[in-house]
Amino acid sequence: NFISAVVPPGEIGIKFDDIGALEDVKTALHELAILPMKRPELFSRGNLLRPCKGILLFGPPGTGKTLLAKALATEAGANFISITGSTLTSKWFGDAEKLTKALFSFASKLAPVIVFVDEVDSLLGARGGGFEHEATRRMRNEFMAAWDGLRSKDSQRILILGATNRPFDLDDAVIRRLPRRIYVDLPDADNRLKILKIFLAKENIEPDFDIRRLANATEGYSGSDLKNLCIAAAYRPVQELLDEEKKGKKCDTTPALRPLNLDDFIQSK
Ligand code: ATP
Repeated sequence: NFISAVVPPGEIGIKFDDIGALEDVKTALHELAILPMKRPELFSRGNLLRPCKGILLFGPPGTGKTLLAKALATEAGANFISITGSTLTSKWFGDAEKLTKALFSFASKLAPVIVFVDEVDSLLGARGGGFEHEATRRMRNEFMAAWDGLRSKDSQRILILGATNRPFDLDDAVIRRLPRRIYVDLPDADNRLKILKIFLAKENIEPDFDIRRLANATEGYSGSDLKNLCIAAAYRPVQELLDEEKKGKKCDTTPALRPLNLDDFIQSK
């Protein structure tokens, strides 16, 4: 019950192409995780090219870190295990050693596997001195011990991928174990355009709808904010139709929704 999801590679349903922008992040993940998992023979000699055991994705909320983790599993042909730091520490008051052993032995059986630890700061945050909950401290120590204990054969095929909005809360010992750290930034106007194009690809929008103007008008929006905006805008023609129906203008045929226009988005901001 501490694992929030276990998904085989073909069933995740998210690929890199479904993620707008973040090209540099995708390239880095390709080199650091996909290649070593798909072509382990290229990373087994010498000391320079070694698959890394851990990667940290950090950046503001809603920028696509969870989405990237899922797509990475698809692209690498790996199973996907997802755990959430805060759930792990708040729901578990039992034997931390047993729990982490079970998690890592489960992961070994599913290798190649991405173990995604969302809110990694909750599980592996900085030592909280005397105030820290004893259970949290034990869990963190056991987790790190089990992680270190991965045999090198396994480490090629088990990747711990942490995500956080609070990288400065992470313990130094954890930072060392996540040697590759990738910043997932808020999108700029060009990148917001790419993300909006994905969300609006299948929507009924007015022919002269200028997505670029919408991208320019959404400074500071994360990918998640853009998605919520699009959902709110898409609801407006539905609401209008329902209002018309309320006024008694019922039509016999299936009602057609009007196409979306820029104003729907501006009004939904
Ligand atoms: P948090 O730090 O709050 O957990 P996160 O960085 O993990 O957030 P996600 O959960 O991956 O963000 O993103 C939330 C939703 O926003 C996604 O399910 C997706 O619909 C949308 N989204 C965010 N970024 C992108 C993007 N670059 N391309 C397409 N969709 C995106």
